[in-house]
Amino acid sequence: MERFSKYPLMASVSGVRGIIGKSLTPEVIVRYAGAFGTLCGGGQIVVGRDTRVSGEMVEYAVYAGLMAAGCTVIPIGVSTTPTVQLAVEKMKASGGIVITASHNPEYWNGLKFINSRGIFLDEKAGNKLSNIIANELYHYSDYSGIGKLFAPVDFTGEHIQAIVNAELVDVEVIRRCRFKVVVDCVNGAGSVIFPELLDTLGCQVTVIHGEPDGKFPRGPEPVPENIKTLCKTVVNNHSDIGFACDPDADRLSIVDNTGAPIGEEYSIVLSALLVLSHKKGAVGVNLSTTSVVDNIAQRFGVPVYRSKVGEAHVVKMMMETGCVIGGEGNGGVILPEIHYGRDALVGAALTLQLMAERQESLTEIIKDIPHYYMTKHKVEVSTHKAKTIIKKIAAQISGCTVDTTDGLKIIYPDSWVHIRLSNTEPIVRVITEAASKELSEKLASQYLQYFIPIGVR
Ligand code: MG
Repeated sequence: MERFSKYPLMASVSGVRGIIGKSLTPEVIVRYAGAFGTLCGGGQIVVGRDTRVSGEMVEYAVYAGLMAAGCTVIPIGVSTTPTVQLAVEKMKASGGIVITASHNPEYWNGLKFINSRGIFLDEKAGNKLSNIIANELYHYSDYSGIGKLFAPVDFTGEHIQAIVNAELVDVEVIRRCRFKVVVDCVNGAGSVIFPELLDTLGCQVTVIHGEPDGKFPRGPEPVPENIKTLCKTVVNNHSDIGFACDPDADRLSIVDNTGAPIGEEYSIVLSALLVLSHKKGAVGVNLSTTSVVDNIAQRFGVPVYRSKVGEAHVVKMMMETGCVIGGEGNGGVILPEIHYGRDALVGAALTLQLMAERQESLTEIIKDIPHYYMTKHKVEVSTHKAKTIIKKIAAQISGCTVDTTDGLKIIYPDSWVHIRLSNTEPIVRVITEAASKELSEKLASQYLQYFIPIGVR
């Protein structure tokens, strides 16, 4: 358990994550839920959770905090993060809480907070929530004002309907293709809804890691090194495509028909390709997302807007600039027509629509898209030390474009590096992109050495 001691409670703008039994205790959970209930001023709050084994414990602590603050709880059971977001919006609730630690390992759990519009809390609301906790400004009711707990509601069907009813998704066109699809749900919240959506779209579906028991059989991030079983299954089954998601199914990654993982950066690229071919409009992504997005946008003559990393930031920018599609390079696809949240299911439906319309295999579609090489490194380092190092690097840079919106992004004519502190883990991320693997790795090494002296790595 020694390894846990260095993990503090990680609070970001729109959520909190911690280690169960260490930093994420029932007391902490009740405080956060009570503060959120106070922030919402009572009303109805939708609560859903991913499949983690700690989920029920966290759920009951969340209920206690919310009900004590006078909120009525609408439980929707095991649900993906986008399902909870959509449920809040459609039920016209005051807010929502998703119990999940997203892609963090099994021993983590956490809360994601959603406002009455079904989107993550922004910086302003997040600061208010922190203030309620820091100064103990909870509005707890007396016995007569305690909130009620409603009977559980299943929102899976409504989420699927919202996707198939979308203007850009033509169910009949996709159904006619009878795509052979493999889906890897990491035994998470996508285990039930993802195969059901694919079934609705007329796909011949093979499910792997589809037991919703919260025991993650692979690394929970849907990155290439964690989805090797999916790649093999796509090859063995002669499938058209493979999909993988993280435990709360807001991130999607795709495997092509040859069994090659195309990289989670390409989820937003493929979705943008489909959307822009029907609807010309701006694209909104974060600063770390691949430059391929710019290339696709140029093709359609539309602008790309970039925000700080994090769904709340991307969504705020997308709403302000009226983007027609957006997301994050970590596999997050946001289609405003359905809702303002990263949604693996939406990304899968848009990709199948693209394949159906083009009548081409995924490898053929990808051939038509430029390829850059991205490296993503993470270094465990304290927040204080990381900030000092980033400042030092910034002071040394000259002769290239620098963006300090989120950490430090250094943009060279044909490559870039983005160095930023994670909001959810005590790590620094060093992300680079260049025309070749060698150049990208070289750029990464150049900046990683500020954090890890060469020879220690
Ligand atoms: Mg997630």
